[in-house]
This record gives sequence, structure tokens and C-alpha cells, in this order.
Amino acid sequence: MKTLEKYSMGIGDRFGHQGKAQLQAMVQARSEGIEIVPVWNKSFREHSIIGTQPADVRTEADAAVKSLGWKGGYYVDADHINLKNVETFIEYSDFFTLDVAEEIGHPAEAEAIQAFVKFCDNYIRTLEIPGIDKPFDITRETITAAARKYLFAVQKAGEIYRHLVSAKGEGNFITEVSMDETDAPQTPVEMFLILAAIAREGIPAQTVAPKFTGRFNKGVDYVGDTARFEREFNEDLAVIAFAVKEFGLPANLKLSVHSGSDKFSIYGPIRKALARFGAGLHLKTAGTTWLEELIGLAEAGGEGLKIAKEVYARALEKMDALCAPYATVIDIDPAKLPSAEQVRAWDGSTFAAALRHDQSCGNYNAHFRQLLHVGYKVAADMGARFTDALKADEEEIAKHVAANILQRHLRPVFGR
Ligand SMILES: [Zn+2]
Repeated sequence: MKTLEKYSMGIGDRFGHQGKAQLQAMVQARSEGIEIVPVWNKSFREHSIIGTQPADVRTEADAAVKSLGWKGGYYVDADHINLKNVETFIEYSDFFTLDVAEEIGHPAEAEAIQAFVKFCDNYIRTLEIPGIDKPFDITRETITAAARKYLFAVQKAGEIYRHLVSAKGEGNFITEVSMDETDAPQTPVEMFLILAAIAREGIPAQTVAPKFTGRFNKGVDYVGDTARFEREFNEDLAVIAFAVKEFGLPANLKLSVHSGSDKFSIYGPIRKALARFGAGLHLKTAGTTWLEELIGLAEAGGEGLKIAKEVYARALEKMDALCAPYATVIDIDPAKLPSAEQVRAWDGSTFAAALRHDQSCGNYNAHFRQLLHVGYKVAADMGARFTDALKADEEEIAKHVAANILQRHLRPVFGR
């Protein structure tokens, strides 16, 4: 069976030019003793906005691996797929993120719910989970309510999984189940019951992406109660370790943190929790690399800087349309955005300082950063003009892309 390593990082690359720079960060991390493997992820949503194909991601990953002589594992993740859009990914991906968040709350058939409650009979009691101080009081109602909320979604995941097995063969791909793009976070007890349902459905999930408490806005730091996040994250790890034993799920099953880039204020708690449980982690990121491309273009000056400013000006004009698909994962206060006029007068380092995720820098602007995060469609619409600039300023851009992944992500999360 294809088995995902303990530590993995999902790296997205909107335009497919930074595979080598991203992998370079992992090469450096390995030389520092961080055993990390890359997973190139791209969702159907990103492909449709940019106009790329799943085959492009495979080509990019293979080329980066070959060029740097990478000997470790690496994967290509069909991110956030469902039965409607999975087809074009099947040939090129060996990691599938089955997104069933939309099915949450849609009740399964009464018989299925009854059967699930019966399956969980054993746990209708005061349940002590090793690693969690306070035991949980689980009643028939707790299980029924969780089944009503989540069972149908897990059944859907089962359908997608079986479709993939018929196309690729059992054991030839990594399976993730994601429920992150929804409103309410899952409690540890819900997580336990979701894992029960996943096991019962016969899905050998190696990663699971819950919705955590707090806001995971795109490209910016965590917003929420970090102490509560830390407690729940620890409880989730305890639940996973327990569920693996109880339900015979894959021994390497681990959490996947989506929108995981740039969440600096929770990296410390995450790292501590992983050490406490000896747990693995998949940290999924995507757009943080595209923002480094813009920083590199701005710093390179000339045509690069001109393009960076144009992307902003047009993103500002089209703000509503660009933000719509990301409404639940951004918080932009238009009053805090600089005008296109102001930005036109900036030099490269001023642009970069406003965009770079350095919260200690007085010029950093989280609103500016979030708008540009969702503004990649503007760059996609520029076509060859944009990708030619990526080629022309490759060296400058690669420096920023690699440093961002290594210094701001790999070391704080996975470093010793
Ligand atoms: Zn996600």
C-alpha cells in the first residue's frame, strides 16, 4: 500500500513555475534533519480559475524531482475533489482529498443511522480516551446526532473512494477525507464518530482534515482563541490515536491542516502537540507561494514591479467577484486597502513590505495581502505576459519562494 510519510507538506503552485524552488526548501530542511515529503496539491477550483489541467501538476512535480535528484517520496494531490470533478485527476494523481463538506447535515437514511448507532453501541458510556483528561459522556443521542450530521457525508466519501479503487486499484493512492470547508468545527467526540464511520465505510484514510476552531483565513495568521485551538488540537490527536486502535484504521492516519500556510501563532502549539503524541502531520498550503511570486516580481523591479502593481489595481476593481469563491476564508476591510493610485507610487521594496507576511513590520498590510491572495485570476488573465515575467525574474522569485517555505513554515512546524 502507498503509505504517506509521517510529516508531509502540501504545496500549491498556481502557475506551476515554482516546483523546483519549493522542493529546494525541502532539500534544505532534510539537510537540517527535518524528514518532510512534498505533496503538490491543486484543487478543481484553482485549475478552473487559472485554466490549468491536472496533468500539468504531475509534469511539474516530476520535473522538479528529477532536476534536484530528490530521492524521497512525493505526491500529487487531487485537492478537494468529488464524484463530479474527479475524472481528469485520476490518471495524474496519487493522493486524493475527498471533499464531502457539502454533504454535512444531509441526513443519511434512517436504517443506515440505526445501523451506525448499533455499530457504536460499545461506546455508549463514559468514554476515557488516553491523553484527554476529562472523560466524555457518550449517549445514544450523541451518536444519533453525529450520524445525522456526518454519516451521509462519509457514505459519499465511500462512493468516491470506491470509484478511485475501480480506476486505480486498491493501495495505489493516498486517501484524505476533508470536512474543513464548512461553518461549524467538529468536536473531538464528533471526530471520533466520524472516524468510526470512515472505518466502517472501508475507507483507508491516511489523513483527515477537520474544521478547527477559529478562522483559517487565506495567507494570513490564525484568528481565534489559540489556547482553545491548542486544547482541541491535542484532543484530536488523542482521538486519532485511539480510533486507529479501536477501528483498525491505517496506523499512519494523521491530521491535515488546510489553509495551513502562514498560521504562525499556532505553529508553536502544533509542534508541541505533535511531539507529545509522536504524531504526524500534513500541512496543506497553496497560495502562499503565489504571494512570494508577487514579492519577487516587485523586488525585481522594472516590468515585474509594473505587473505586481497592475495585479493589485485590477484586483481592487474586481474585488467582489474575486472574493466570492473565498468568502468563508478571507476577512478584508476595504477601508484598510491602499488605493491603486497610492500603490502606483510605491517602489519595489515598499510593495514587498506591505505584502510580505512579517507582522513585526509596520508596513505589513493583512488586507492588501488577502486581496492579492485571491487576486491570482487577474494574473492568470494576463496570460503569457505574466508567465514570461515569472521566467525573466525566476532567480529573484525562487529565493523568496524557498525562504518562505523553509523559514516561515518547515522550521517552525516540523523543526527540532
Ligand atoms: Zn481545504
